[in-house]
Amino acid sequence: MSLLEIKNLTTSFSTEQGSVQAVRGISLAVDQGEIVGIVGESGSGKSQSMYSVMGLLSENGRVEEGSILFDGKEISPKYFDGNEKAYEKYMESIRGNTLSMIFQDPMSFLNPVLTIEKQLVEPLKNHRKIPAAELHQRAVELLTQVGIPSPEERLKQYPHQLSGGMRQRVIIAIALACTPKMIIADEPTTALDVTIQAKIIELIKELKEKTGSGVILITHDLGVVASACSRIYIMYGGKIVETGLADEIFYSPQHPYTQGLLACVNNPESDNELQPIPGSPPDLISPPAGCPFVDRCSQAMKICKQYMPREKRLSETHGVSCWLTEKGGI
Ligand code: SF4
Repeated sequence: MSLLEIKNLTTSFSTEQGSVQAVRGISLAVDQGEIVGIVGESGSGKSQSMYSVMGLLSENGRVEEGSILFDGKEISPKYFDGNEKAYEKYMESIRGNTLSMIFQDPMSFLNPVLTIEKQLVEPLKNHRKIPAAELHQRAVELLTQVGIPSPEERLKQYPHQLSGGMRQRVIIAIALACTPKMIIADEPTTALDVTIQAKIIELIKELKEKTGSGVILITHDLGVVASACSRIYIMYGGKIVETGLADEIFYSPQHPYTQGLLACVNNPESDNELQPIPGSPPDLISPPAGCPFVDRCSQAMKICKQYMPREKRLSETHGVSCWLTEKGGI
């Protein structure tokens, strides 16, 4: 059984303009000890699908349908029989404990008026019965584990006294504090420069090796997942449009959106200029009946507007939802 198994997850947000169908029936699975990438541009539903898993949707967000099986237990809100308190209580018991999230923006996650040490030991106090005398030593170990030099000194400092890369390492240390079974990293390198980005990705890989945790890496950049992920899910317009092993996605992409994303990845060995994908993502208040990529796809056909293609399995690991992969197109 997979560590995390999501089936037909559907999440929406009520707004004054109407209901935004942010996540539209996605299914995915992650095993212990593997790093899986979820890739897509802003508004593709990649972050909101994981906020649905974590129980961290904003007040107007709601999981409408689907199953979220984590560590053998169903954690979708609807399986708590409408008992919101029971759901919240259960999620608080696993969040930051067996299921952790690394957030995109350290400055909005870290409390500016608390020292690094206070923030680092909080999950340990909440979830582990570690004697107070041992908390400081554990905090030192955590900072050392994420490669922060002079940990004793850093623990006394406040977030604004650290560099961006250092703050992101602190966020990772907090997420690791209770040795979670699963870590969800939401664009963990977006705010950092390229050199630090590479170091943070290396750190996540190393920590996965040491702890055996399952990791989901959410990003808009295929380049970021290239070296880290064994499997990749490509999301567009609230749906998973292609999934496969990293090699299948990089060397044999089948969906025109995946091909477009790859053309956007800067290849230092190529003189080709970056090719941005023209157009903008679909309006998810009234999403297209057919393929969500239809308005931006240079190969779109009549059927693409009318019907959403079902996922076609090209191999045991590679799946794509595009009418072009149907026999001879239509
Ligand atoms: Fe393009 Fe049609 Fe395939 Fe969608 S289903 S990606 S519109 S060809």
